[in-house]
Amino acid sequence: MTSRSRILAADKASVFRPFTSLEDHADEDSLVVTSAEGPFVFDADGRRFFDASGAWWCNHLGFQHPRLVRALRDQADTLCHAAMATATHEHAALLAEELVAAAPAGLARVFYGDNGSTAVEIAAKIAFQYWQQNGAPKRRVFLTLGGGYHGDTVGAMSLGGVDSFHAVFHPLMFEVARSPEARDAAGFESAFAWILDRLRTDPDSIAGVFIEPLVLGAAGMRFYDPRHLRALREATIQHDTFLILDEVFTGYGRTGPMWAADHAGVAPDILCTAKGLTAGVLPFGAVLVTDRIHRGFAGGASRAFLHGHTFYGNPLGARVAREVLAIYRDEQILEGARERADVIRDAFTSIGEIEGTSGARALGMIGAVELGTPGYFGPLGWEVARHARSLGVAIRPLGNTLYVIPPLNTPIGDLERMLRVVETSIAEVLASAR
Ligand code: PMP
Repeated sequence: MTSRSRILAADKASVFRPFTSLEDHADEDSLVVTSAEGPFVFDADGRRFFDASGAWWCNHLGFQHPRLVRALRDQADTLCHAAMATATHEHAALLAEELVAAAPAGLARVFYGDNGSTAVEIAAKIAFQYWQQNGAPKRRVFLTLGGGYHGDTVGAMSLGGVDSFHAVFHPLMFEVARSPEARDAAGFESAFAWILDRLRTDPDSIAGVFIEPLVLGAAGMRFYDPRHLRALREATIQHDTFLILDEVFTGYGRTGPMWAADHAGVAPDILCTAKGLTAGVLPFGAVLVTDRIHRGFAGGASRAFLHGHTFYGNPLGARVAREVLAIYRDEQILEGARERADVIRDAFTSIGEIEGTSGARALGMIGAVELGTPGYFGPLGWEVARHARSLGVAIRPLGNTLYVIPPLNTPIGDLERMLRVVETSIAEVLASAR
């Protein structure tokens, strides 16, 4: 077996790390993950860490869920890849049926992508092309929420608004109509009022409203009231434009119900999903659209959606995604997460009482809090992360926003222990910062 030090040396010499400064990459004592189980990862030196950030928010069912590993193995034995332009296969076909059944009402067709960002690109292109060829070519602008995040590819960056990540790319981005950025309830009130106003005053230019439902994740786990989503749904229906929901992060029960849209009782015209879709086992994504939208591509090759990735509907991804849905059903994942969500809520209520914290909040299987002054380049989240790591919890903050995103089926005792470590780490770091 390759030694820990050899792996680290190769990583430091040859890997271009995502979302990491070169200095941090060079200096960091990185985890060298050799195996994982449930909420835990194991380092090559034998230490065990609770991954409180849920493997970049996709570890919904625990690492190495035996049924997912078996499904993947079985599928690898029979069919690893089938190009789907002129063919189909069992798992992509049946998964589409099952996703439609699991999705909010009215979504009827599935287009596959490779991850969250490609799902977002696909959704935007479908909406755009639909209007171009269905009598409303002036509908070219997407309305979005300031501070939204939809991924790092160019289209997804254009729709998003997290300047800390993407400001340098502004010259590459297409234009969107973006609301003022919201940080709290009053801010969201104005942001949604801005969007509704824009819809009212210039409805015929809007291709769709493209947003993260209920939680602006990467902007700093900012939550907003479901009634805003309801108002948006009514307004988009009234002005005959699309409501496009990016459920890449919020889907699969992360906020409680299967979809964040369910909090508001709304169904979008287009829904993007990834992350929970394969529960972190494989890169995969999907976009669900209504029948109306699908029919808008009828009329020959020149009106077809000429978009498709090499790994569209990949059999391994599709097979695992089907097993994920089966596990949600058989193991009553959403029902079990309710009790765990209460544990997170209680812990963050208590964390909110620590001097120097603000805005402690929880929604479903997400808990978050601000440390000191909010901001992506703030140091406090990282200091808490270092402290927590010494106590067996790996956590990746968004600067001074600290959050936990554990698996929905985390054993309650492990969840409580992780939350105690987070609370202690915050208390100790903030006490020494005072
Ligand atoms: N949309 C949202 C809401 C996300 O949170 C993310 C990733 N954090 C993405 C899209 C992009 O997904 P991916 O990293 O799989 O491309």
